[in-house]
Amino acid sequence: MKAFVIAEAAEAQKDLCAGARTLADEVVLVSIGDAPQTGVADKAYHIALPEGELYENATDTVIALFDEVAPEIVLVETTPRLKIVGGRLAAHADTSVINDVAAFDGDAAESLYFGGLATMKRRPAGSVRIYSTNGSMFSEAEASGTDAVEEREFVPASNPLKLRGKREVVQEGADIGRAPIVVGAGRGFAKEEDLDLARSLAAAVRGEIACSRPIAENEKWLPKSLYIGVSGRVISPKVYFAVGISGQMQHMVGVTGADTIIAINKDANAPVFKQADYGLVADLQEVLPVLTEKLA
Ligand SMILES: Cc1cc2nc3c(=O)[nH]c(=O)nc-3n(C[C@H](O)[C@H](O)[C@H](O)COP(=O)(O)OP(=O)(O)OC[C@H]3O[C@@H](n4cnc5c(N)ncnc54)[C@H](O)[C@@H]3O)c2cc1C
Repeated sequence: MKAFVIAEAAEAQKDLCAGARTLADEVVLVSIGDAPQTGVADKAYHIALPEGELYENATDTVIALFDEVAPEIVLVETTPRLKIVGGRLAAHADTSVINDVAAFDGDAAESLYFGGLATMKRRPAGSVRIYSTNGSMFSEAEASGTDAVEEREFVPASNPLKLRGKREVVQEGADIGRAPIVVGAGRGFAKEEDLDLARSLAAAVRGEIACSRPIAENEKWLPKSLYIGVSGRVISPKVYFAVGISGQMQHMVGVTGADTIIAINKDANAPVFKQADYGLVADLQEVLPVLTEKLA
């Protein structure tokens, strides 16, 4: 069986190729724009974009490669641009994409539903299985492969997207999606300056600070790119500290992929403790300085 992997970020190329290796005998990686990762697939194709060309307009080139390779499985990184490429590829292959896959159960792909309150299982509509995923479900898998990279000439799109305008998006804060340790701050932090306690803990454990939605959306103490949950970021760190966070489902679905959850909350009945591996019933003002000192 052959698997086709289309991913943007270098880490995602590695993770998705590692996952594809668990699903297929042959793994073929496609990278649009940037050069592909080597050593993670049996073969990698690089589609260089002509100056000023939109990423999404490489779809026809991807489709030509797809027809040539004839894979049974396609894994697409969950990014806005690749969701467009994946959707168009699925239309070409007379199937549909199953988006945001978080796990497999036999031939059913699982993803979150109703804002994370339920899990939905879906099976592919056509003979080719196309899934979009952030790759976190493959964290145990190992990537392997050759350094073979073949250049593919960009084929102009028959039905191209047209750029109507550009607006700069300022990236604030760290990329919490890739951080191994994340300290999440919630409404238990009474004042903005108290967030320094969370920042100090994050620095001590070489992690990154993140937050619940109210801290970013209501208080605006941290950028929106740092809030976790169903309408924020979904992350899979090795360790997640939930500090002063009650543990509402809308927040916790964003950390179901964390290996270990450590909750600190002064309310012993806070729902976060039901999902935490370790819990500390304590006032964050008292416990964070001590924890930071011990872990530094
Ligand atoms: C459609 C929808 C989408 C949503 N999406 C998201 C989302 O993506 N992400 C998200 O985070 N939320 C989301 N929410 C909001 C979510 O439902 C919760 O309201 C939110 O997560 C609560 O944030 P919190 O835990 O920081 O605050 P709270 O629920 O107010 O909890 C604060 C906690 O801090 C504890 N605390 C207080 N003082 C201290 C102290 N000194 N020391 C220790 N603990 C203390 C309290 O006991 C309490 O448990 C969404 C809601 C809706 C309706």
